[in-house]
Amino acid sequence: METTLSKSSSIDPNRQPLGREVDRGQFLAIAQNALDRAAGSGATVAILYATFTPQFPSGESGELRDLEESFFDVAAQALLEKAGSAFPHGSELHLMRPARDSFAVLLPPSAKTEDAMAAASSIRQRFEGSISVRGLSVRATVAMGVSSAPPWAANAEALVQQAETAAYCARFQSNSQLQIYCEYMNRWAPERQKLEKDLREAIDRKELLLYYQPRVRATDQKIVGFEALVRWKHPERGLISPGQFIPIAEEAGIIVGIGEWVLHEACRQAKAWRDQGMPKVHMSVNLSPAQFRKADLYETICTVLKDTGLEADALELELTEGMLMTDPKSAITTLQRLKALGVHLSIDDFGTGYSSLSYLRRFPIDALKIDQSFVREVTSKPEDAAITTAIILLGHSLKLSVIAEGVETDSQLKFLQVLQCNEIQGFLVSKPVPADQATKLLAADAQKKYEN
Ligand code: C2E
Ligand code: MG
Ligand code: MG
Repeated sequence: METTLSKSSSIDPNRQPLGREVDRGQFLAIAQNALDRAAGSGATVAILYATFTPQFPSGESGELRDLEESFFDVAAQALLEKAGSAFPHGSELHLMRPARDSFAVLLPPSAKTEDAMAAASSIRQRFEGSISVRGLSVRATVAMGVSSAPPWAANAEALVQQAETAAYCARFQSNSQLQIYCEYMNRWAPERQKLEKDLREAIDRKELLLYYQPRVRATDQKIVGFEALVRWKHPERGLISPGQFIPIAEEAGIIVGIGEWVLHEACRQAKAWRDQGMPKVHMSVNLSPAQFRKADLYETICTVLKDTGLEADALELELTEGMLMTDPKSAITTLQRLKALGVHLSIDDFGTGYSSLSYLRRFPIDALKIDQSFVREVTSKPEDAAITTAIILLGHSLKLSVIAEGVETDSQLKFLQVLQCNEIQGFLVSKPVPADQATKLLAADAQKKYEN
Protein backbone atom coordinates (compact mmCIF):
# COMPACT_ATOMS: atom_id res chain seq x y z
CA MET A 1 0.00 0.00 0.00
CA GLU A 2 2.83 2.39 0.85
CA THR A 3 4.50 2.03 -2.55
CA THR A 4 1.26 2.75 -4.33
CA LEU A 5 0.51 5.73 -2.16
CA SER A 6 3.88 7.25 -2.99
CA LYS A 7 3.22 6.46 -6.62
CA SER A 8 -0.14 8.22 -6.55
CA SER A 9 1.35 11.24 -4.78
CA SER A 10 3.60 11.83 -7.80
CA ILE A 11 0.57 12.23 -10.05
CA ASP A 12 -0.70 15.67 -11.02
CA PRO A 13 -3.73 16.16 -8.73
CA ASN A 14 -5.36 18.60 -11.14
CA ARG A 15 -5.62 16.30 -14.09
CA GLN A 16 -9.01 14.90 -14.97
CA PRO A 17 -9.32 11.12 -14.74
CA LEU A 18 -10.36 9.37 -17.90
CA GLY A 19 -13.48 8.00 -16.34
CA ARG A 20 -16.97 7.58 -17.62
CA GLU A 21 -20.23 6.14 -16.44
CA VAL A 22 -21.68 3.34 -18.54
CA ASP A 23 -24.74 1.15 -18.22
CA ARG A 24 -24.65 -2.34 -16.81
CA GLY A 25 -24.53 -4.10 -20.20
CA GLN A 26 -21.64 -1.95 -21.42
CA PHE A 27 -19.81 -2.32 -18.14
CA LEU A 28 -20.04 -6.10 -18.18
CA ALA A 29 -18.96 -6.22 -21.83
CA ILE A 30 -15.91 -4.03 -21.15
CA ALA A 31 -15.02 -6.05 -18.04
CA GLN A 32 -15.44 -9.36 -19.88
CA ASN A 33 -13.22 -8.07 -22.65
CA ALA A 34 -10.58 -7.14 -20.09
CA LEU A 35 -10.86 -10.58 -18.49
CA ASP A 36 -10.43 -12.31 -21.85
CA ARG A 37 -7.36 -10.24 -22.66
CA ALA A 38 -5.92 -10.76 -19.17
CA ALA A 39 -6.29 -14.53 -19.45
CA GLY A 40 -3.68 -14.57 -22.22
CA SER A 41 -1.26 -12.10 -20.63
CA GLY A 42 -1.35 -13.17 -17.00
CA ALA A 43 -2.55 -9.69 -15.94
CA THR A 44 -5.33 -9.12 -13.41
CA VAL A 45 -8.66 -7.34 -13.68
CA ALA A 46 -9.99 -5.59 -10.59
CA ILE A 47 -13.30 -4.05 -9.62
CA LEU A 48 -13.89 -1.68 -6.76
CA TYR A 49 -17.42 -1.62 -5.39
CA ALA A 50 -18.58 1.20 -3.13
CA THR A 51 -21.82 1.35 -1.15
CA PHE A 52 -22.74 4.70 0.37
CA THR A 53 -24.95 5.28 3.37
CA PRO A 54 -25.68 9.01 3.49
CA GLN A 55 -27.41 10.59 6.46
CA PHE A 56 -29.78 13.26 5.28
CA PRO A 57 -31.57 15.80 7.37
CA SER A 58 -35.28 15.08 7.65
CA GLY A 59 -37.51 16.70 5.10
CA GLU A 60 -40.26 16.16 2.57
CA SER A 61 -39.83 12.88 0.73
CA GLY A 62 -39.72 14.67 -2.66
CA GLU A 63 -36.97 17.01 -1.49
CA LEU A 64 -35.09 14.10 0.02
CA ARG A 65 -35.21 12.18 -3.24
CA ASP A 66 -33.68 15.15 -5.08
CA LEU A 67 -31.05 15.55 -2.39
CA GLU A 68 -30.28 11.86 -2.55
CA GLU A 69 -29.83 11.97 -6.32
CA SER A 70 -27.55 15.00 -6.03
CA PHE A 71 -25.57 13.19 -3.37
CA PHE A 72 -25.09 10.17 -5.60
CA ASP A 73 -24.01 12.42 -8.51
CA VAL A 74 -21.37 13.97 -6.26
CA ALA A 75 -20.38 10.51 -4.99
CA ALA A 76 -19.97 9.16 -8.54
CA GLN A 77 -17.79 12.11 -9.48
CA ALA A 78 -15.68 11.80 -6.32
CA LEU A 79 -15.34 8.09 -6.89
CA LEU A 80 -13.97 8.57 -10.40
CA GLU A 81 -11.65 11.37 -9.33
CA LYS A 82 -10.25 9.61 -6.30
CA ALA A 83 -9.98 6.23 -7.97
CA GLY A 84 -8.36 7.97 -10.96
CA SER A 85 -5.77 9.67 -8.78
CA ALA A 86 -4.36 6.28 -7.77
CA PHE A 87 -3.42 5.33 -11.31
CA PRO A 88 -0.98 6.65 -13.90
CA HIS A 89 -2.06 9.47 -16.15
CA GLY A 90 -4.21 8.34 -19.05
CA SER A 91 -5.58 5.26 -17.30
CA GLU A 92 -9.15 4.54 -18.19
CA LEU A 93 -11.85 3.91 -15.58
CA HIS A 94 -15.40 2.75 -16.10
CA LEU A 95 -18.18 3.22 -13.60
CA MET A 96 -21.67 1.81 -13.34
CA ARG A 97 -24.42 2.04 -10.78
CA PRO A 98 -25.65 -1.47 -9.96
CA ALA A 99 -27.94 -0.32 -7.15
CA ARG A 100 -29.44 2.94 -5.92
CA ASP A 101 -26.71 3.42 -3.30
CA SER A 102 -23.78 1.62 -4.96
CA PHE A 103 -21.23 2.01 -7.71
CA ALA A 104 -18.81 -0.42 -9.33
CA VAL A 105 -15.57 0.87 -10.85
CA LEU A 106 -13.61 -1.22 -13.32
CA LEU A 107 -10.02 -0.33 -12.57
CA PRO A 108 -7.42 0.10 -15.32
CA PRO A 109 -5.85 -3.08 -16.74
CA SER A 110 -2.60 -2.42 -14.91
CA ALA A 111 -4.31 -2.31 -11.49
CA LYS A 112 -3.07 -4.50 -8.69
CA THR A 113 -4.77 -5.11 -5.37
CA GLU A 114 -2.49 -2.50 -3.76
CA ASP A 115 -3.59 0.10 -6.33
CA ALA A 116 -7.20 -0.68 -5.58
CA MET A 117 -6.50 -0.29 -1.87
CA ALA A 118 -4.83 3.05 -2.48
CA ALA A 119 -7.85 4.19 -4.48
CA ALA A 120 -10.15 3.00 -1.71
CA SER A 121 -8.12 4.79 0.93
CA SER A 122 -8.30 8.02 -1.06
CA ILE A 123 -12.07 7.63 -1.48
CA ARG A 124 -12.49 6.96 2.21
CA GLN A 125 -10.58 10.12 3.09
CA ARG A 126 -12.82 12.11 0.77
CA PHE A 127 -15.90 10.95 2.66
CA GLU A 128 -14.46 11.16 6.14
CA GLY A 129 -15.99 14.50 7.08
CA SER A 130 -19.19 15.78 5.62
CA ILE A 131 -19.55 16.65 1.96
CA SER A 132 -21.44 19.54 0.49
CA VAL A 133 -24.55 18.75 -1.54
CA ARG A 134 -26.85 21.55 -2.72
CA GLY A 135 -25.41 23.77 -0.05
CA LEU A 136 -26.09 21.25 2.73
CA SER A 137 -23.42 19.30 4.51
CA VAL A 138 -24.17 15.60 4.34
CA ARG A 139 -22.32 12.92 6.24
CA ALA A 140 -21.93 9.53 4.65
CA THR A 141 -20.23 6.27 5.32
CA VAL A 142 -18.80 4.25 2.50
CA ALA A 143 -18.12 0.53 2.54
CA MET A 144 -15.89 -0.76 -0.22
CA GLY A 145 -15.01 -4.12 -1.63
CA VAL A 146 -12.42 -5.14 -4.18
CA SER A 147 -12.43 -8.28 -6.28
CA SER A 148 -9.78 -9.30 -8.77
CA ALA A 149 -9.43 -12.08 -11.30
CA PRO A 150 -7.71 -14.43 -11.35
CA PRO A 151 -8.15 -16.36 -9.04
CA TRP A 152 -11.86 -16.45 -8.21
CA ALA A 153 -14.16 -15.09 -10.84
CA ALA A 154 -15.17 -17.03 -13.94
CA ASN A 155 -16.71 -14.04 -15.71
CA ALA A 156 -17.40 -10.32 -15.41
CA GLU A 157 -20.75 -10.79 -13.72
CA ALA A 158 -19.19 -12.99 -11.02
CA LEU A 159 -16.42 -10.43 -10.55
CA VAL A 160 -18.95 -7.65 -9.87
CA GLN A 161 -20.88 -9.93 -7.53
CA GLN A 162 -17.71 -10.73 -5.58
CA ALA A 163 -16.78 -7.06 -5.23
CA GLU A 164 -20.31 -6.41 -3.96
CA THR A 165 -20.03 -9.29 -1.49
CA ALA A 166 -16.72 -7.88 -0.22
CA ALA A 167 -18.29 -4.42 0.19
CA TYR A 168 -21.17 -6.02 2.01
CA CYS A 169 -18.78 -7.78 4.41
CA ALA A 170 -16.91 -4.50 4.85
CA ARG A 171 -20.06 -2.84 6.11
CA PHE A 172 -20.33 -5.33 8.94
CA GLN A 173 -16.67 -5.10 9.96
CA SER A 174 -17.15 -1.44 10.72
CA ASN A 175 -18.31 1.51 8.69
CA SER A 176 -16.02 3.09 6.11
CA GLN A 177 -14.07 -0.12 5.70
CA LEU A 178 -12.54 -1.94 2.80
CA GLN A 179 -12.49 -5.67 2.22
CA ILE A 180 -10.76 -7.69 -0.45
CA TYR A 181 -12.90 -10.53 -1.71
CA CYS A 182 -11.99 -14.03 -0.43
CA GLU A 183 -13.81 -17.24 -1.15
CA TYR A 184 -14.94 -17.70 2.46
CA MET A 185 -17.17 -14.63 2.13
CA ASN A 186 -19.36 -16.53 -0.24
CA ARG A 187 -20.39 -18.94 2.48
CA TRP A 188 -22.62 -16.55 4.36
CA ALA A 189 -22.82 -13.22 2.59
CA PRO A 190 -24.98 -13.96 -0.49
CA GLU A 191 -27.88 -15.45 1.46
CA ARG A 192 -27.86 -12.63 3.94
CA GLN A 193 -27.40 -10.06 1.17
CA LYS A 194 -30.43 -11.45 -0.61
CA LEU A 195 -32.49 -11.27 2.57
CA GLU A 196 -31.43 -7.67 3.10
CA LYS A 197 -32.31 -6.77 -0.50
CA ASP A 198 -35.71 -8.42 -0.10
CA LEU A 199 -36.26 -6.61 3.18
CA ARG A 200 -35.54 -3.25 1.55
CA GLU A 201 -38.44 -3.94 -0.80
CA ALA A 202 -40.74 -5.56 1.74
CA ILE A 203 -42.68 -2.40 2.60
CA ASP A 204 -43.35 -1.46 -1.02
CA ARG A 205 -44.33 -5.02 -1.82
CA LYS A 206 -46.71 -4.97 1.13
CA GLU A 207 -45.07 -8.03 2.67
CA LEU A 208 -44.98 -6.67 6.22
CA LEU A 209 -47.94 -7.26 8.44
CA LEU A 210 -48.83 -6.82 12.06
CA TYR A 211 -49.97 -9.39 14.55
CA TYR A 212 -51.61 -8.25 17.75
CA GLN A 213 -51.29 -9.80 21.19
CA PRO A 214 -53.78 -8.82 23.88
CA ARG A 215 -52.66 -7.38 27.19
CA VAL A 216 -55.17 -8.15 29.91
CA ARG A 217 -55.91 -7.00 33.43
CA ALA A 218 -54.36 -9.56 35.79
CA THR A 219 -57.37 -9.73 38.11
CA ASP A 220 -60.07 -10.64 35.56
CA GLN A 221 -58.35 -10.87 32.17
CA LYS A 222 -60.23 -7.98 30.65
CA ILE A 223 -58.46 -6.82 27.51
CA VAL A 224 -56.87 -3.43 28.14
CA GLY A 225 -54.62 -3.21 25.12
CA PHE A 226 -52.78 -4.92 22.31
CA GLU A 227 -49.13 -5.07 21.43
CA ALA A 228 -48.39 -4.75 17.71
CA LEU A 229 -45.76 -7.28 16.65
CA VAL A 230 -44.41 -7.14 13.13
CA ARG A 231 -44.13 -10.16 10.81
CA TRP A 232 -42.64 -10.47 7.34
CA LYS A 233 -44.47 -12.60 4.82
CA HIS A 234 -41.53 -13.51 2.61
CA PRO A 235 -42.55 -14.78 -0.85
CA GLU A 236 -40.25 -17.82 -0.62
CA ARG A 237 -39.54 -18.30 3.06
CA GLY A 238 -43.02 -17.82 4.49
CA LEU A 239 -43.71 -15.94 7.70
CA ILE A 240 -40.50 -14.62 9.27
CA SER A 241 -40.47 -13.56 12.90
CA PRO A 242 -39.08 -10.18 13.97
CA GLY A 243 -36.25 -11.85 15.88
CA GLN A 244 -34.88 -12.93 12.51
CA PHE A 245 -35.24 -9.77 10.48
CA ILE A 246 -35.26 -6.82 12.92
CA PRO A 247 -31.50 -7.23 13.61
CA ILE A 248 -30.86 -7.24 9.83
CA ALA A 249 -33.04 -4.16 9.40
CA GLU A 250 -31.10 -2.45 12.19
CA GLU A 251 -27.71 -3.26 10.71
CA ALA A 252 -28.80 -2.33 7.21
CA GLY A 253 -30.11 1.04 8.41
CA ILE A 254 -33.67 0.39 7.25
CA ILE A 255 -35.30 -0.12 10.64
CA VAL A 256 -36.56 3.46 10.81
CA GLY A 257 -38.70 3.04 7.68
CA ILE A 258 -40.03 -0.27 8.93
CA GLY A 259 -40.69 1.19 12.37
CA GLU A 260 -42.63 4.10 10.88
CA TRP A 261 -44.74 1.72 8.84
CA VAL A 262 -45.46 -0.29 12.00
CA LEU A 263 -46.43 2.85 13.93
CA HIS A 264 -48.75 4.01 11.20
CA GLU A 265 -50.40 0.64 10.68
CA ALA A 266 -50.84 -0.04 14.42
CA CYS A 267 -52.41 3.40 14.99
CA ARG A 268 -54.63 2.97 11.95
CA GLN A 269 -55.88 -0.36 13.33
CA ALA A 270 -56.46 1.06 16.82
CA LYS A 271 -58.46 3.93 15.35
CA ALA A 272 -60.48 1.52 13.18
CA TRP A 273 -61.44 -0.44 16.30
CA ARG A 274 -62.54 2.75 18.01
CA ASP A 275 -64.55 3.76 14.97
CA GLN A 276 -66.25 0.35 15.02
CA GLY A 277 -67.38 1.07 18.57
CA MET A 278 -65.06 -1.49 20.16
CA PRO A 279 -63.90 -1.02 23.76
CA LYS A 280 -61.25 1.67 24.07
CA VAL A 281 -58.01 -0.23 24.39
CA HIS A 282 -54.51 1.09 23.91
CA MET A 283 -52.03 0.04 21.28
CA SER A 284 -48.41 -0.69 22.19
CA VAL A 285 -45.70 -0.33 19.59
CA ASN A 286 -42.06 -1.37 19.99
CA LEU A 287 -39.52 1.28 19.09
CA SER A 288 -36.05 0.41 17.91
CA PRO A 289 -32.96 2.26 19.17
CA ALA A 290 -32.45 3.98 15.80
CA GLN A 291 -36.00 5.33 15.87
CA PHE A 292 -35.55 6.58 19.40
CA ARG A 293 -32.29 8.33 18.48
CA LYS A 294 -33.83 10.18 15.54
CA ALA A 295 -34.16 13.89 16.19
CA ASP A 296 -37.60 13.98 14.57
CA LEU A 297 -39.19 11.12 16.57
CA TYR A 298 -41.61 13.54 18.24
CA GLU A 299 -42.67 15.00 14.88
CA THR A 300 -43.07 11.50 13.43
CA ILE A 301 -45.37 10.48 16.28
CA CYS A 302 -47.40 13.68 15.90
CA THR A 303 -47.74 13.10 12.16
CA VAL A 304 -48.82 9.47 12.59
CA LEU A 305 -51.42 10.43 15.21
CA LYS A 306 -52.71 13.24 13.02
CA ASP A 307 -52.82 11.09 9.88
CA THR A 308 -54.62 8.22 11.57
CA GLY A 309 -56.80 10.33 13.87
CA LEU A 310 -55.88 8.26 16.92
CA GLU A 311 -55.87 9.99 20.31
CA ALA A 312 -52.37 10.26 21.75
CA ASP A 313 -53.30 8.52 24.99
CA ALA A 314 -54.34 5.42 23.04
CA LEU A 315 -50.75 4.88 21.95
CA GLU A 316 -48.06 3.33 24.11
CA LEU A 317 -44.43 3.22 23.05
CA GLU A 318 -42.28 0.35 24.32
CA LEU A 319 -38.68 1.32 24.91
CA THR A 320 -35.80 -0.70 26.31
CA GLU A 321 -33.40 0.06 29.12
CA GLY A 322 -30.53 0.13 26.62
CA MET A 323 -32.18 2.89 24.59
CA LEU A 324 -32.77 5.04 27.63
CA MET A 325 -29.45 4.48 29.32
CA THR A 326 -27.23 5.17 26.28
CA ASP A 327 -27.78 8.89 26.75
CA PRO A 328 -30.14 9.24 29.74
CA LYS A 329 -30.20 13.05 29.77
CA SER A 330 -31.36 13.38 26.20
CA ALA A 331 -33.71 10.40 26.74
CA ILE A 332 -35.42 12.34 29.54
CA THR A 333 -35.99 15.30 27.21
CA THR A 334 -37.42 13.07 24.47
CA LEU A 335 -39.66 11.22 26.93
CA GLN A 336 -40.90 14.46 28.48
CA ARG A 337 -41.99 15.78 25.08
CA LEU A 338 -43.78 12.54 24.22
CA LYS A 339 -45.37 12.41 27.65
CA ALA A 340 -46.64 16.00 27.27
CA LEU A 341 -48.30 14.87 24.06
CA GLY A 342 -50.24 12.28 26.06
CA VAL A 343 -48.52 9.16 24.73
CA HIS A 344 -47.94 6.32 27.24
CA LEU A 345 -44.42 5.03 27.73
CA SER A 346 -43.23 1.68 29.00
CA ILE A 347 -39.93 -0.12 29.47
CA ASP A 348 -39.95 -3.47 27.70
CA ASP A 349 -37.94 -6.54 28.74
CA PHE A 350 -37.33 -4.88 32.09
CA GLY A 351 -34.65 -6.55 34.18
CA THR A 352 -32.47 -7.66 31.27
CA GLY A 353 -30.63 -4.35 30.76
CA TYR A 354 -28.77 -1.95 32.97
CA SER A 355 -31.11 0.58 34.43
CA SER A 356 -29.83 3.07 36.89
CA LEU A 357 -32.45 3.35 39.60
CA SER A 358 -31.75 7.03 40.06
CA TYR A 359 -32.56 7.58 36.38
CA LEU A 360 -35.54 5.27 36.49
CA ARG A 361 -37.36 7.64 38.81
CA ARG A 362 -36.53 10.57 36.50
CA PHE A 363 -37.85 8.94 33.33
CA PRO A 364 -41.48 9.99 32.92
CA ILE A 365 -42.68 6.47 32.16
CA ASP A 366 -45.96 4.73 32.91
CA ALA A 367 -45.14 1.06 33.04
CA LEU A 368 -42.53 -1.69 33.38
CA LYS A 369 -42.84 -4.90 31.41
CA ILE A 370 -41.15 -7.76 33.25
CA ASP A 371 -39.08 -9.74 30.79
CA GLN A 372 -40.47 -13.16 29.97
CA SER A 373 -37.22 -14.87 30.96
CA PHE A 374 -38.10 -14.16 34.62
CA VAL A 375 -41.75 -15.05 34.24
CA ARG A 376 -40.99 -18.40 32.57
CA GLU A 377 -39.68 -20.02 35.76
CA VAL A 378 -41.38 -17.79 38.28
CA THR A 379 -43.04 -20.75 39.99
CA SER A 380 -40.07 -23.10 39.85
CA LYS A 381 -36.96 -20.99 40.40
CA PRO A 382 -36.76 -19.04 43.66
CA GLU A 383 -34.31 -16.56 42.06
CA ASP A 384 -36.77 -15.71 39.26
CA ALA A 385 -39.60 -15.44 41.77
CA ALA A 386 -37.43 -13.04 43.80
CA ILE A 387 -36.60 -10.87 40.76
CA THR A 388 -40.22 -10.77 39.59
CA THR A 389 -41.38 -9.84 43.09
CA ALA A 390 -38.73 -7.13 43.34
CA ILE A 391 -39.69 -5.61 39.96
CA ILE A 392 -43.37 -5.49 40.90
CA LEU A 393 -42.60 -3.85 44.25
CA LEU A 394 -40.17 -1.42 42.64
CA GLY A 395 -42.70 -0.52 39.93
CA HIS A 396 -45.51 0.03 42.40
CA SER A 397 -43.39 2.12 44.73
CA LEU A 398 -42.53 4.35 41.75
CA LYS A 399 -46.27 4.48 40.95
CA LEU A 400 -45.81 2.56 37.72
CA SER A 401 -48.04 -0.09 36.29
CA VAL A 402 -46.36 -3.51 35.94
CA ILE A 403 -47.00 -5.94 33.12
CA ALA A 404 -45.74 -9.53 33.05
CA GLU A 405 -44.84 -10.88 29.61
CA GLY A 406 -44.77 -14.50 28.51
CA VAL A 407 -47.42 -15.80 30.92
CA GLU A 408 -48.19 -19.34 29.80
CA THR A 409 -49.69 -21.16 32.81
CA ASP A 410 -52.36 -20.71 35.43
CA SER A 411 -49.84 -21.08 38.23
CA GLN A 412 -47.77 -18.20 36.80
CA LEU A 413 -50.93 -16.11 36.62
CA LYS A 414 -51.85 -16.94 40.24
CA PHE A 415 -48.36 -16.01 41.43
CA LEU A 416 -48.59 -12.66 39.60
CA GLN A 417 -52.10 -12.00 40.90
CA VAL A 418 -50.95 -12.52 44.50
CA LEU A 419 -48.24 -9.91 43.91
CA GLN A 420 -50.84 -7.55 42.39
CA CYS A 421 -49.11 -7.38 39.06
CA ASN A 422 -51.35 -5.10 37.01
CA GLU A 423 -51.46 -6.73 33.61
CA ILE A 424 -50.39 -9.90 31.92
CA GLN A 425 -49.59 -10.83 28.36
CA GLY A 426 -48.81 -14.31 27.10
CA PHE A 427 -49.92 -17.48 25.40
CA LEU A 428 -52.20 -18.26 28.37
CA VAL A 429 -54.50 -15.52 27.12
CA SER A 430 -53.64 -15.54 23.42
CA LYS A 431 -50.72 -15.78 21.03
CA PRO A 432 -50.16 -12.78 18.79
CA VAL A 433 -52.85 -13.03 16.09
CA PRO A 434 -53.65 -11.30 12.78
CA ALA A 435 -55.90 -8.22 12.85
CA ASP A 436 -59.14 -10.05 12.00
CA GLN A 437 -58.70 -12.49 14.89
CA ALA A 438 -57.72 -9.68 17.24
CA THR A 439 -60.95 -7.93 16.23
CA LYS A 440 -62.89 -11.06 17.20
CA LEU A 441 -61.09 -11.25 20.56
CA LEU A 442 -61.96 -7.65 21.23
CA ALA A 443 -65.58 -8.06 20.13
CA ALA A 444 -65.97 -11.14 22.37
CA ASP A 445 -64.39 -9.25 25.26
CA ALA A 446 -66.88 -6.42 24.80
CA GLN A 447 -69.71 -8.91 25.46
CA LYS A 448 -68.27 -10.02 28.79
CA LYS A 449 -69.39 -8.52 32.09
CA TYR A 450 -66.64 -6.90 34.13
CA GLU A 451 -66.86 -5.06 37.42
CA ASN A 452 -65.56 -1.83 35.88
P1 C2E B 1 -41.23 -8.11 22.74
O1 C2E B 1 -41.61 -6.71 22.42
O2 C2E B 1 -40.73 -8.36 24.12
O3 C2E B 1 -42.50 -8.97 22.40
C1 C2E B 1 -42.89 -10.11 23.08
C2 C2E B 1 -42.47 -11.34 22.34
O4 C2E B 1 -42.78 -12.46 23.15
C3 C2E B 1 -43.23 -11.58 21.04
O5 C2E B 1 -42.36 -12.26 20.15
C4 C2E B 1 -44.33 -12.51 21.48
O6 C2E B 1 -44.82 -13.33 20.42
C5 C2E B 1 -43.61 -13.36 22.47
N1 C2E B 1 -44.52 -13.94 23.44
C6 C2E B 1 -45.66 -13.40 23.92
N2 C2E B 1 -46.23 -14.19 24.83
C7 C2E B 1 -45.44 -15.28 24.95
C8 C2E B 1 -45.51 -16.46 25.74
O7 C2E B 1 -46.42 -16.68 26.53
N3 C2E B 1 -44.49 -17.35 25.59
C9 C2E B 1 -43.47 -17.15 24.74
N4 C2E B 1 -42.51 -18.07 24.64
N5 C2E B 1 -43.37 -16.04 23.97
C10 C2E B 1 -44.35 -15.12 24.08
P2 C2E B 1 -42.18 -11.78 18.66
O8 C2E B 1 -43.48 -11.32 18.10
O9 C2E B 1 -41.43 -12.84 17.95
O10 C2E B 1 -41.29 -10.51 18.84
C11 C2E B 1 -39.99 -10.61 19.33
C12 C2E B 1 -39.39 -9.26 19.56
O11 C2E B 1 -39.21 -8.58 18.32
C13 C2E B 1 -40.25 -8.34 20.38
O12 C2E B 1 -40.10 -8.63 21.73
C14 C2E B 1 -39.68 -6.99 20.01
O13 C2E B 1 -38.51 -6.73 20.74
C15 C2E B 1 -39.31 -7.21 18.57
N6 C2E B 1 -40.36 -6.61 17.72
C16 C2E B 1 -41.54 -7.13 17.34
N7 C2E B 1 -42.20 -6.24 16.56
C17 C2E B 1 -41.41 -5.14 16.47
C18 C2E B 1 -41.53 -3.87 15.80
O14 C2E B 1 -42.54 -3.54 15.18
N8 C2E B 1 -40.48 -2.99 15.94
C19 C2E B 1 -39.37 -3.30 16.68
N9 C2E B 1 -38.39 -2.40 16.75
N10 C2E B 1 -39.22 -4.48 17.30
C20 C2E B 1 -40.23 -5.38 17.20
MG1 MG C 1 -42.57 -5.34 23.31
MG1 MG D 1 -40.57 -7.87 25.81
